[in-house]
Amino acid sequence: MIVPEKFSLNNHKCWICGYRKLDVEKKMSPRYLCFWCSPSEEGEEQLTPELLINDLILEAGEHLRNGNLIRCEDIDVLSLIADIGDLGGRHPHFKQFTSMIGLIAVQVVLEKSYTPRKLLKVAEGATLNEKWKRVCQCIFFLTDVSLLEHGEGRYIQDRFRPSNLLLELTSSIESVSKVEEELPPRIANCIAGYALLYGIKTSIEWLKKDGQGEPTGIIRLYPRNSHGKIWIPKRFTATTMYLMGHLAHGYDEFSENELRAWLSNRGITGNDASWIINWLNRTIPSAHRLVNPRFDGITYHFSFNINYIRMRERVRERIRGRSR
Ligand SMILES: [Zn+2]
Repeated sequence: MIVPEKFSLNNHKCWICGYRKLDVEKKMSPRYLCFWCSPSEEGEEQLTPELLINDLILEAGEHLRNGNLIRCEDIDVLSLIADIGDLGGRHPHFKQFTSMIGLIAVQVVLEKSYTPRKLLKVAEGATLNEKWKRVCQCIFFLTDVSLLEHGEGRYIQDRFRPSNLLLELTSSIESVSKVEEELPPRIANCIAGYALLYGIKTSIEWLKKDGQGEPTGIIRLYPRNSHGKIWIPKRFTATTMYLMGHLAHGYDEFSENELRAWLSNRGITGNDASWIINWLNRTIPSAHRLVNPRFDGITYHFSFNINYIRMRERVRERIRGRSR
């Protein structure tokens, strides 16, 4: 097992969405997040992106435990996390990890265990050593998000074995569809989206505790060099936080111009920003159901899926109920 390299953070930006802080903001808490990803709590009834994500993970986890993965098209929360998985699977860096998650899930369906060596075939890297590092990153990450768990034994497949959640969610696939090499795309996206969104939640918690020790969650998957310098795969993380934040703050619509301005504060411009717009409006073909696009002749306007808005309202109600 390769020991993860030293890790260094600075307070110049948000380590989830990549927002570049103004000098005055650098001194504010939380040091490693922005006010979008971690707004100061103005009363417990306020729905923040973090609370929304936490609730979605809880609800999705219950459905996955109850064998509902196979119905991910009909269950709003599973459909939403499958949309996030679709976005993750199209990112040049995250794609390898969503492929690894798919390979692990297929093996667990068929054999109730997995072989880390098999993941090398989708890992990126010029050398075997680099590829193996990516595989280990993924295994640690899946342990953070409760799809693998620590076990006994000398070998990596024994030390990190499938969790009950992974065994339960894969057993629902086994009973319905015939799995050979790959999972049906929407199901694979649902598992990957669950892991990635859970990873964001875990990293936000870690960053709020001042980023001490080895990172947990999605930050484990960020690309880094041997000096500990890391890059944020913003096209995935920033887009996800924009959507979750907008939904959490109660907005049902947004325009291309609003999104571009927000992305530009995070250093996402040009082709990367256009790619995001084209994914949202499905010029890049996608089965996501996040938003409905409307073109006014000049720019796009997006309205959230009405089912997702209703789901947001249910989360709000639950949070109000808890704080009463
Ligand atoms: Zn942020």
